[in-house]
Amino acid sequence: MARTADRSNKKSAKAISDNGDSPMKHHPYHGMVATLATMHRKEIAVAPPFKELVGLHVISAADIDTDALGTFSGDIPRIGSMGEVATRKARLGMTAANTRIGLASEGTFGPHPAIPFITAGMELLKLVDDDRGIEISESLVTPDIVFQKAILRPGEDLTSFLASCRFPSHGLIARPNAPGVSTPIIKDILTRDDLDNAIAMLARQSDDGRVVLSNDMRAHRNPTRMRSLDKLAIKLAQRVASLCPACGSPGFGKSGQIDGLPCMDCGSPTRSPMLDKFGCVACGCSETRTRADGKTRENPMYCDYCNP
Ligand SMILES: [Zn+2]
Ligand SMILES: [Zn+2]
Repeated sequence: MARTADRSNKKSAKAISDNGDSPMKHHPYHGMVATLATMHRKEIAVAPPFKELVGLHVISAADIDTDALGTFSGDIPRIGSMGEVATRKARLGMTAANTRIGLASEGTFGPHPAIPFITAGMELLKLVDDDRGIEISESLVTPDIVFQKAILRPGEDLTSFLASCRFPSHGLIARPNAPGVSTPIIKDILTRDDLDNAIAMLARQSDDGRVVLSNDMRAHRNPTRMRSLDKLAIKLAQRVASLCPACGSPGFGKSGQIDGLPCMDCGSPTRSPMLDKFGCVACGCSETRTRADGKTRENPMYCDYCNP
């Protein structure tokens, strides 16, 4: 199954690169190498779209410790915004592999910004180019995450919890609920035997005899998160592929919206977006475009005048 997918990816990449008329060949990054800073095999998701859409070869840096900049499990806290951490991480990889272009991603999860009572995953992917002095980012908010957590004692029935965790396709991590002096976290729990051993061991180290189990959110242990990174990598590669009409820099793309879509009934401006703003990360030039969905009027139910 995996092999078939891999082969068809290679075929389509080859078909594009064999096409002499491909605009990709004129892209400033065509044939260049970028380093992706990852300890968790994110290159599986990130490398293919950059190769197909830009002709940029993404390699992963060996021997770097991205965990030093903070971990998902919280045993090492992150310092700074997601964007700042992503930049530091990209530079770690660029230094290690001696490339002028680097990539890094950061992920977190919390309350969905638009939908109440839903937990969402938030992913940021950034390209840093030290030759041009630019950074190009894209982000993704998705309700499609697999993150479950439970506090339990040895011997408890785990059937429904493990099903909701999608274990063993998705990995688990475990720690004592009430740790004494140190807080050991066991990661890479991939089999039922690993899990039973971890629960037995950590229960003995927990003052209340209970253990906290949760999904491992690292990309290589959470295929749902890897799929989100895949979508985000396509989004960023498309943006990097797009060149500024004024200065030719990579990364021309949507930078915001202008609100005020007129009401269908009374014509007053609503709070819905009317135009998309596009901008360049290098020269700062920008332009407005009509909405990608072609919508030019808003439903009166969103109008403060018709439906206050
Ligand atoms: Zn420009
Ligand atoms: Zn109205």
